[in-house]
Amino acid sequence: MQETVVIIGAGQAGAQVAQSLRQGNFEGPIRLIGDESNAPYQRPPLSKKYLLGEVAPEGLLLRPPAFYSTQNIDLIPDTRVEGIDRAAKRIVLANGDSISYDKLVISTGTRARQAPLPGADLDGVVTLRTIADVDGIRERLLAGQNVVIVGAGYIGLEVAAVARQLGKDVTVVEAQDRPMKRVVSPFISDFYCALHTENGVSLRLGTGVEAITGDGKVSAVKTADGASIAADLVLVAVGAEPNDELAEAAGLETDNGIIVDGAGLTSDDHIYAAGDCTRFFSNRYGRSVRMESVQNAIDQGKVVAQSILGEDVDYDPLPWFWSDQYDVKLQIAGLSDGYDETRTVGEPKDHKFYVAYLKAGQLIAVDSVNSPRSHMMARRVIGEPWREGLLPEVA
Ligand code: FAD
Repeated sequence: MQETVVIIGAGQAGAQVAQSLRQGNFEGPIRLIGDESNAPYQRPPLSKKYLLGEVAPEGLLLRPPAFYSTQNIDLIPDTRVEGIDRAAKRIVLANGDSISYDKLVISTGTRARQAPLPGADLDGVVTLRTIADVDGIRERLLAGQNVVIVGAGYIGLEVAAVARQLGKDVTVVEAQDRPMKRVVSPFISDFYCALHTENGVSLRLGTGVEAITGDGKVSAVKTADGASIAADLVLVAVGAEPNDELAEAAGLETDNGIIVDGAGLTSDDHIYAAGDCTRFFSNRYGRSVRMESVQNAIDQGKVVAQSILGEDVDYDPLPWFWSDQYDVKLQIAGLSDGYDETRTVGEPKDHKFYVAYLKAGQLIAVDSVNSPRSHMMARRVIGEPWREGLLPEVA
């Protein structure tokens, strides 16, 4: 008898699992269930070219909609899964229907973290995760002049860049002392401070937001240091939280993410998980990690498909990531925390350089700015002892 695979979450990871199963000649039914209306799509352009208006919605799709029917993948949009009955091996939908599985994959991603701030429910205060979010944001962005972004992570800064390109007055308020603190070194943070300042963004670092004010509709943001900043639109971009509640309620092991092993298997032998919603132990880094990146969603999705197909796999990736702001592409390979030495090659003032991070003489990470060759090479040589010529010169 052919097994049925049910996938909860029709995003980057879920679509990858379905696609890789078919590529691996899996012949059983595949049900790919998502609560959004669109066929699976890529999120990175949402805060970049899609918000800028340079990409149409169809341009975001990972595959043309017809792909799923030709591959005999039963794509079920607009459908929220409310529960997992592990004993009966079935999932329960919001409308009360249930669907049986032999193997279940949870790829529910993350959601934008909400800020528990007075005024966060005012009209014009938004978060960004989906196409629908960006459609609303773009309309407001075009209509107003004053944009305040709470949080200087990569999404907040990408939106700041787009808003400046659209001629808006932009203020970014960040409680930490430097932008993108969670993912880049102080050197790269300094570069991005200068880049945004040169482009006319007002960066207010080291100060929190006390309240968002307005009468029904947002009109200002009050910061902890006593400033009041006019706002027609406030984007709250303070990170993401894993959608792991379904798994937790079903009694699966979770810890700010669904715990999986190197095969993508959860604490239930019939249930796998992939993408942003997972946490796994990395031997490479000697600790458990939860990654929010396209690289992880794709690679872990492939691993889960391989596991379901009976292959022996052990996922321990070299993480990589990118961010586009203005005409500057940052590409990150590896995790730089814990470095004890850096090498900078190229000139930050030319917007073309890279920073190599070493720990005990070994290359552990490289941040490349408009330097794609060093990024591609870094992905091959991270882990090796540092030596001259290990990475290319910046052309
Ligand atoms: P998702 O793509 O989020 O898919 C999960 C899906 O599951 C969603 O459609 C969700 O609605 C659905 N779902 C959740 N719960 C349920 C339920 N109970 N029932 C049914 N469906 C459910 N990464 C990079 O590497 N580079 C970038 O430049 C970059 N830029 C980004 C910009 C933005 C604005 C955002 C939001 C993300 C960006 N990312 C970037 C991160 C990247 O998009 C994610 O890591 C990736 O989408 C994760 O894939 P996923 O399948 O795990 O989750």
